Amino acid sequence: MNDQGKHKFRKRSLTVEEFTDGVINGNRAIIAQAITLVESNSPKHFEKAQKLLQRIMPYTGKAIRVGITGVPGAGKSTLIEEFGAMLCVQGNKLAVLAVDPSSSVSRGSILGDKTRMDTLSKHPNAYVRPSPSGGALGGVARKSRETMLICEAAGYNIIFVETVGVGQSEITVRSMVDFFLVLMLTGGGDELQGMKKGIMEIADAIYINKADGTNKQAALNAKAEYNRLLHYLQPATPGWETRAFTISALTGEGVPELWDMITSFEEKMKKSGFFEKRRAGQLADWMDRLIEEELKNRFYQNAYIKETLPEVKRQVTAGETPLARAVQELIQTYQQSDKF
Ligand code: GDP
Repeated sequence: MNDQGKHKFRKRSLTVEEFTDGVINGNRAIIAQAITLVESNSPKHFEKAQKLLQRIMPYTGKAIRVGITGVPGAGKSTLIEEFGAMLCVQGNKLAVLAVDPSSSVSRGSILGDKTRMDTLSKHPNAYVRPSPSGGALGGVARKSRETMLICEAAGYNIIFVETVGVGQSEITVRSMVDFFLVLMLTGGGDELQGMKKGIMEIADAIYINKADGTNKQAALNAKAEYNRLLHYLQPATPGWETRAFTISALTGEGVPELWDMITSFEEKMKKSGFFEKRRAGQLADWMDRLIEEELKNRFYQNAYIKETLPEVKRQVTAGETPLARAVQELIQTYQQSDKF
């Protein structure tokens, strides 16, 4: 065994070529380091990460990307363990990633607190990576997207992206996956109309979990109710009917059927051409979002803007300068000072 110091040094000095080869050869240690590289906030690492992403690009895009959401306690990790084990036994290579918006706002994170997917993470065909932390949701999501590309280049043919049921993060995950699965629980009928309607509109399938024991009948009733509501909604994917099902992550009942459905979805969407169309659309949207974010950051980081913004804001709120004019002047001066 190398001594710790040497090992650390070797880690730090991996070249882009070494990263690329390691990732493509499915070297787990190098995959982990490559993900750490794309998750880094340092500008130096950013450059290297982008070079790596450029190189692995031809090897990406071949996996089926599945988003999984549900409120805390819905059974996401139990389902991923069960479903993931089945897929790995069948010879698939599965990467499980997470987008946890809470990691940026609170110290703890909703998805990361407990040891999750303990059994699955030990399986040689599975790679489980917790949510990147720090930064706004946009930053977390970009890192997860790039992590997904690394996993694809490393030969993982199924990617799960898990998130919690808190609005914006679900939309974000929807925008990076092919198939979006929503786990629901029975009960909470009153909320059905409001909060849940939004999530139903972006789902490709709704699964009522914990359909076992004494809860089975209630789950079947909920399924019927969801199907009734889904009937009135526009499906999330053109040419695909979003339906509700029951499942038990605990007993595994309904899990093989879930995989059958995802594969038939993939087949159907590839045939219709929507699969590629959605991915292209996702990339274009992603690009717009990154441009907006980058421009916004540059504007607020600009030394002149930092210095003058408080005073201009004061003038606007005091009614001394019209708002639109103040904004226009700020942007014009910013453009000149940023040497565009
Ligand atoms: P997560 O927060 O969505 O990841 O939910 P967990 O997977 O941690 O599950 C929350 C709790 O529900 C745990 O105690 C699980 O054992 C339990 N649970 C999960 N799936 C099922 C199921 O299908 N049936 C039953 N009866 N319990 C389940």
